[in-house]
Amino acid sequence: MDLGISGKRALVCGASKGLGRGCAEALAEAGVNLVLNARGAEALETTAAAIRTTYGVTVTTIAADITTDAGRGQVLAGAGHIDILITNAGGPPPGLWSDWNRDDFIRAIDANMLTPIALMQALMPAMIARGWGRVVNITSQSVKAPVPQLGLSNAARTGLTGFVAGTSRQVAGSGVIINNLLPGIHATDRADALDAGVVTSQGITLDAARAQRAATIPAGRYGTPAEFGAACAFLCSQHAGFIVGQNILLDGGATNATI
Ligand code: NAP
Repeated sequence: MDLGISGKRALVCGASKGLGRGCAEALAEAGVNLVLNARGAEALETTAAAIRTTYGVTVTTIAADITTDAGRGQVLAGAGHIDILITNAGGPPPGLWSDWNRDDFIRAIDANMLTPIALMQALMPAMIARGWGRVVNITSQSVKAPVPQLGLSNAARTGLTGFVAGTSRQVAGSGVIINNLLPGIHATDRADALDAGVVTSQGITLDAARAQRAATIPAGRYGTPAEFGAACAFLCSQHAGFIVGQNILLDGGATNATI
């Protein structure tokens, strides 16, 4: 299927690895030129070089922490014309509900709620003026089914979800389409870190930890960044103009819900 977005220009945050990289690759395959962001310059350059070689699109890199005012300023100053925005950053740490103080909540809300909102506020006015734009926020399965030890994430991401629910309906008439993608477990560094915790706490091998987690997913396996990226690219395509303000689970059926 031709996604109809060849020649558009996308900013993909958190793009050197994992789900962000999956989105960047799928957009590049559709002919989209890219601005890629992550904090670590080395992995970012490696990813950018691989995408240029494989897909022949132009790739600009901006190494910065997207969750800080200074980092966002750097990214926005270097990004230029952007038609497609993919927001993404690392998730907050796990813990117990009673562990967190105001500063912990402010950090989580800054990273996983106010950062994507600030990026939308900065880039959507030009999309609206041109009459076309796409935004995909990478959030989490935990928005639909809370992960108890991820209270900071549950709280911050739900705040973003509420903002998108209203805003997506305000801008859809201008051709700007916002949706959220909710990953369940995918085979990335983040999943490796979660599984390493199980290795330590249960004294089992990494393979056993992965098999144990995969057994909780109806699909019987982890998702891949390529599958995630394909869904993201579709939401950024010309065909997705009637999908507005949705929260789309990519979790292999792990969230046990009828709707
Ligand atoms: P990952 O494999 O660890 O990759 C994260 C990417 O984001 C890297 O490129 C990382 O590069 C970049 N990044 C992290 N913090 C950043 C920041 N402050 N500014 C700019 N770039 C940043 O993680 P992932 O699995 O792709 O997860 C992406 C998001 O989905 C996270 O919010 C995660 O909580 C959520 N999620 C993932 C899963 C899963 O199973 N993988 C499930 C549910 C939710 P640098 O470290 O160099 O900055």
